[in-house]
Amino acid sequence: MIKLIEKLYNTRSLSLDEYEYLISNRTEEYAEKLASLARQRANEVYGNKIFVRGLIEITNICKNDCLYCGIRRSNKACQRYRLTKEEILSCCEEGNRIGYKTFVLQGGEDGFFTDEVLCDIVKEIKKRYPEAAVTLSMGERSYESYKALKEAGADRYLLRHETADPEHYSMLHPEELTLENRMRCLDDLKSLGYQVGCGFMVGSPYQTYGHIAKDLKFIEEFSPDMCGIGPFISHRDTPFKDEKSGSLELTCYLLSIVRLIHPHILLPSTTALGTIHPDGRQMGILSGANVVMPNLSPEDAKSKYTLYDNKLHSGAESARELNKLKELMSSIGYKIVTERGDVIKE
Ligand code: SAH
Repeated sequence: MIKLIEKLYNTRSLSLDEYEYLISNRTEEYAEKLASLARQRANEVYGNKIFVRGLIEITNICKNDCLYCGIRRSNKACQRYRLTKEEILSCCEEGNRIGYKTFVLQGGEDGFFTDEVLCDIVKEIKKRYPEAAVTLSMGERSYESYKALKEAGADRYLLRHETADPEHYSMLHPEELTLENRMRCLDDLKSLGYQVGCGFMVGSPYQTYGHIAKDLKFIEEFSPDMCGIGPFISHRDTPFKDEKSGSLELTCYLLSIVRLIHPHILLPSTTALGTIHPDGRQMGILSGANVVMPNLSPEDAKSKYTLYDNKLHSGAESARELNKLKELMSSIGYKIVTERGDVIKE
């Protein structure tokens, strides 16, 4: 095991079998070893800086029916909303005042946000805050659409691959959604020059260690600029309502591995991690993460953007309470910075 950890640290690459072995045979002691190497790597590239992103959840209307997701179209209990351009801009204004220099626009796949509508919003944000980065997380779109949004000024795009195994993908999604198209989107985004983020849920239904090994191999080979990894958490109004949540411990272990595969990657300590454990956010950072994405959505939207049960949105999770987050991070030796926080390429 120690040999394997050293190999990962030195070569940044393992075989599928080795990744699976590393996950299956984990102990607390190995987890601490990986975490300490991961912190060292993050420190070599980014120092003790933690980047913040202001997350704006612009719509929970979605044409998709992903089995795990609380805003899936079949969920009739979900109260739907969509922010107007003015509301989105006023979130940015507030975020800008607090010091955020990245705005992440995330939402369901809502047909209202055509290229025309979304490009107009991106252009306006870039015009008002030229020093800020705009990240989009609006799901699967065409090459032409991603191109138009890039030309409008979008800098980054988050699109988790969710699972790198096609069969597992089909157990989490309805038939019309395929891993092949997700991968097409990720390739398009990369070729258009976006800083691109992929990622997956830990402990999603039917997930095996073999699947996770494939996720790690995919992340190694695709070499994304960012990677979102958080535990699966069930939502009461989805087909997966009785499935158990992913663990804090395995999520942190995987964050450390991803940091060792790609020392330069931007790795968020996710809201889902903070939701399953009161110290989740800090533990993610201590496992090698270097980004947090506090919520900048209007209060009413926050409570309706329920991807999973009990999703956090107050306290240090709220973008308006940056001071709380600063205290939390400084208590573990890290410093929240309000720079743009672009990826440092190798
Ligand atoms: N429509 C956009 C944004 C999706 S929400 C897109 O397709 O990219 C962002 C992420 O939340 C998803 O990629 C998924 O990995 C995660 N998510 C959704 N439901 C979840 C759940 N029940 N538990 C944990 N994470 C979930």
